[in-house]
Amino acid sequence: MANKHYEEFCQAELPNNLTQLDHQLLGHMCARFNESKTPPKAYPPLAELKRITGAHDKSISRSLNRLIKEDLLFRVTRARIGWQSEYAPNMVRIRELKVTDELPIDSEQVTEKAVIGNATVLHGSPVSYPKPNKPIKPTTQLFDDLLSVIPKDKLFNATPKFVAMLEQLKQHGTSYNDLKAYLKDLNWFGIHTPQTFVISLIKDKLDKPPRYSSELRPEWCRECDEVTRKATYLSFVPNGKGTQTQSCLKCDPYMVNRFNNYY
Ligand SMILES: [Zn+2]
Repeated sequence: MANKHYEEFCQAELPNNLTQLDHQLLGHMCARFNESKTPPKAYPPLAELKRITGAHDKSISRSLNRLIKEDLLFRVTRARIGWQSEYAPNMVRIRELKVTDELPIDSEQVTEKAVIGNATVLHGSPVSYPKPNKPIKPTTQLFDDLLSVIPKDKLFNATPKFVAMLEQLKQHGTSYNDLKAYLKDLNWFGIHTPQTFVISLIKDKLDKPPRYSSELRPEWCRECDEVTRKATYLSFVPNGKGTQTQSCLKCDPYMVNRFNNYY
């Protein structure tokens, strides 16, 4: 499946708002892009797109429209009776999105410590193209911790943005642990731009109120008992159909979760 266009797709850092399906479809369009056709186009039948993504017609159609809106895909011919639309990936835009290095490429400048820190990346599978010349950025403990649940061949780069988002997530209730648990069990097949994919998951979590647990509790409200998070009076349980509780509605993890509709 590897070819020139697919390789360029793998090297692009796609916009954060794209879904996993968008990534799969665009990757496939690149793999099937035929420049020798007039006009150059990709024509995978819908059945093929359904087979490789496992998605429904409507989801595929929404996803293709999103890619067109993002200027990553063109519609070369419109659908008419008996014919499906044909598409072409916007290779110019995809090339523009290529992950670039901010540091000068000079292997002398890469310290031994940094090489050890990112050595796993250098043994990538054909899916995530290893970039041996890439200057290695220093990682953080949290970044390394997240990578511990991700397959070694997935290319990740400790960009300041990514590191900052991870730190923010760590402060967001159980979100970081939830993300780690999710990534650990994830089937990574078809995820060609893992970092962009993970960033979109982080954004989703940061957009929602944090979910708490007895270990990761909200900040103490300073009105109730700090240890037990109990108030001296009874309140109505949020979404509790009239039941009452002595738990603090402001900082007891389960009450706050109920208030945010996590059950
Ligand atoms: Zn409280």
